[in-house]
Amino acid sequence: MTFDQLAEKASREELREIQWQKLRELLRFVSARNPFYTKKWREAGIAPQEIRSLSDLSKLPFTHKSELVAAQEEAPPFGTNATFPPEAYARVHQTSGTTGSPLRVVDTPESWEWWGRCWGHVLCGAGVTAKDRVFLPFSFGPFIGFWAAVEGVRQLGAMMIPGGGWDSLQRLHMMQELGATVICCTPTYALRLAQIAREQKFDLRSIPVRALVHAGEPGANVPQTKARIEEAWNTKCFDHAGASEVGAHSFECEVQPGGIHVIETEFIAEVIDPQKENEMLPGETGELVITNLGRPGFPVIRYRTGDLVRLNLSPCACGRTLARFDGGLLGRCDDMVIICGVNVYPTAIENVIRQFSAVDEFQVNVKRVQEMHQLEVQIEVISGNDAEHVRALVEQAIYRALSLRPTVTVAQPGMLPRFEMKARRVRRLDRS
Ligand SMILES: [Zn+2]
Repeated sequence: MTFDQLAEKASREELREIQWQKLRELLRFVSARNPFYTKKWREAGIAPQEIRSLSDLSKLPFTHKSELVAAQEEAPPFGTNATFPPEAYARVHQTSGTTGSPLRVVDTPESWEWWGRCWGHVLCGAGVTAKDRVFLPFSFGPFIGFWAAVEGVRQLGAMMIPGGGWDSLQRLHMMQELGATVICCTPTYALRLAQIAREQKFDLRSIPVRALVHAGEPGANVPQTKARIEEAWNTKCFDHAGASEVGAHSFECEVQPGGIHVIETEFIAEVIDPQKENEMLPGETGELVITNLGRPGFPVIRYRTGDLVRLNLSPCACGRTLARFDGGLLGRCDDMVIICGVNVYPTAIENVIRQFSAVDEFQVNVKRVQEMHQLEVQIEVISGNDAEHVRALVEQAIYRALSLRPTVTVAQPGMLPRFEMKARRVRRLDRS
């Protein structure tokens, strides 16, 4: 099944032409109407009229999240990154503020449809069709979370089952009774539901689920976490990436080539060296810079996402020519920590710990002791296992994988925090 013929059948040249047409239109629209970008480009000494091809895009300055936050503080509550008058906007959401002040984002009815179209790609990539019943165990608050997934479900014509305001066991029963075939949730919550099913002797296989679509945090791209979710639910799980200020930009297809496709008809993705700011080649790891093409009322143009990716332009077995990020989002530029000379990303630690089915939950603390970073890991061990034995195995596995010695301790069952959205299992205690 195809969701968007244009995006799924276009050649690389056609994709670039689509991007250029949309970019030209966006710049024409935004220039002079949007106070934030008008000021930004004037200060950088560049006029949008000087952008005469897709490769000229690199002449425009980068946009940083701190600038969007400052633009909001300058003209509260919505800020100066607004191309239209306030009455043109129909939706407001805000970021969860895990990396700074919460940022409000606003959408017009048209850009809200665009969000839904992007999510249509995400769901279609996972094989979701009009016949599916999609369960969303999500509390519909101000975070954009799975709000846009609802729109994607609507555009596909599938059935949306809202699962907010219920506890986990009630949600499992509802999935079973209504025959949910697709679940959209964070990877953490998929594991949490599996844990509750185990504790409450609820048979997960009684739910006819055939795909889990994940968002909100890494996990579905961490091979051992993915394997664990797929084993617990006996079905495939799919990764997806996006952000409130950017949109839902990447998704995993059914072939699962070990990465996510970028929806290049709706976004322009660049990969740069985060320090030197020069463009990186396919295969090299760098920071993702995104321009969204379908949100003229609240655009981000050359936005520094802080996410590390590795671009792959080779065709995919699914037939799409859309570029891929191998391994999904590999981490955050500022999450990397150097411990005893070793570059360590939180996802690498997660990948090691998730190999151990006896470990239920974990927490990693990065401490600074006399200018040296140290790694402390706490694990919860499922009852019935020899906790000390598991502890020693985890310690050895981290040492083998990362060449550094952590301190691993065992926490009492249920003591470590559980998360529904934006799991934060790695804590940096070296920062204020
Ligand atoms: Zn593919």
